Amino acid sequence: MPLRAFLAALMVVVPGVLAQGLPDLGDVAHSGFTPLQERRIGESIMREIRADRSFYGEPEATDYIASLGRRLVAGSQESRQDFEFFLIRDPAINAFALPGGFIGVNTGLILTAQAESELAGVLAHEVSHVTQRHIARMLAQQNQTGIASLAAIAGALLLSRASSQAGEAAFALGQAAVIQSQLNFTRDNEREADRVGLQVLQQAGFDPRGMASFFERLQRASPIHESSAFSYLRTHPLTFERIADMQNRTQDMGYRQVPDSLDFQLVRAKLKAWLEPPQEAVAFFEEGLRERKFLSEAAARYGLVASRMRLGDYKRARGELEALRKLVPANPIVDTLTCEFGSNAYGAEKALPCYREALKTYPSYRALIYNYAEALLQTGRPEPALKLVEDRQQVISDDYRLYLLQARAYAALNKRLAQHRAQAEAYVRLGNLPAAVEQLRIGLKSGDGDFYQASSAEARLRELRRLDEEMRRDAAKR
Ligand SMILES: [Zn+2]
Repeated sequence: MPLRAFLAALMVVVPGVLAQGLPDLGDVAHSGFTPLQERRIGESIMREIRADRSFYGEPEATDYIASLGRRLVAGSQESRQDFEFFLIRDPAINAFALPGGFIGVNTGLILTAQAESELAGVLAHEVSHVTQRHIARMLAQQNQTGIASLAAIAGALLLSRASSQAGEAAFALGQAAVIQSQLNFTRDNEREADRVGLQVLQQAGFDPRGMASFFERLQRASPIHESSAFSYLRTHPLTFERIADMQNRTQDMGYRQVPDSLDFQLVRAKLKAWLEPPQEAVAFFEEGLRERKFLSEAAARYGLVASRMRLGDYKRARGELEALRKLVPANPIVDTLTCEFGSNAYGAEKALPCYREALKTYPSYRALIYNYAEALLQTGRPEPALKLVEDRQQVISDDYRLYLLQARAYAALNKRLAQHRAQAEAYVRLGNLPAAVEQLRIGLKSGDGDFYQASSAEARLRELRRLDEEMRRDAAKR
């Protein structure tokens, strides 16, 4: 099934997930959802998404979008809700809100936005669907039969994702369109998300006209980029009325020139350099620099270094990197690229001092931590890798990647129980309890570890088995 179809279907899948782990649907239809129930639905959808190839967990772009999201949420009236922003690798322009404050952003949206306020405008709209509880209301309006048949079709959608047969995908897409028409937010919801979103945008210090200007861009571009604008336009029909409405509102808000952050520009260059064919990316950045046609010179140089590096053209990438570092002497994204370049061009061993130095300035920057741990493991240094990872786990306990790195470090140290325990904790954070249970069983069977470690692992195994059984029981009730 094409990624785009899957993503268009995501909004549709929402009721399908109801079938696996929520209390009585009859009650739900009458009383609506509690925020905790919504969060659980959202989490089970997220398990599917994280396991999907289109999920784009790249730490720098994800951290950027999460910090942009946090800034918007802080400017919203309703900031009690937890939010999680994540990226989908898809050129289609789209963003979507799932139950429970999970907001997905397509890489295509970031690349299409020409100003940070435009990107922020689309996100502010999605944030507002969540804070105004539109999803909960939409779900509550479905009757029991409606939800059951939607659940069946949503199940088929998820299955068809696993196969690439065109017929099946076309069937699923056709069904998706039908369901979509039943599940779209109402026009009133859309209008409210626009209105509240504008306030959110303004309170967060962005140019409130970013929202309207992005929609105009979509509308203008749609004959050419019809297929890439399709996703967003299908869930958010752009009526003349909607744009006029937004322009009227922003007229009173006054003009505000808001400069884009450097990180916005760098992240766009990064996505272009890594997601597009490298030759094309090199040509794009070269032409921009030659004709001085760019939104940010630093970002154009960053993009050129990254795309040349991807092609293995280290000699020319190196010259460009020096020019970039003169333009931007201190920035974690540029520092990370510098160390990555060193590692790719001269080997992991040579890059170690670079990572050490950069981490002194940005000790909690994820991309640096992952890359440094990786370089330590690659050069046969599991002990410092373990210390790096475990220090970080004291602060962040829900990062599955830290546990995967920890498992590799223990494996290199031949500590089998600790290795499988770390692997199990990674699976727990990915939402895969059966795999976590299996890892603990393997670890305990290895006979490794002291008495204390073994009894702690046994206790954790019992706990996870109980949780897993509870979830299966809930699912069987449907
Ligand atoms: Zn909307």
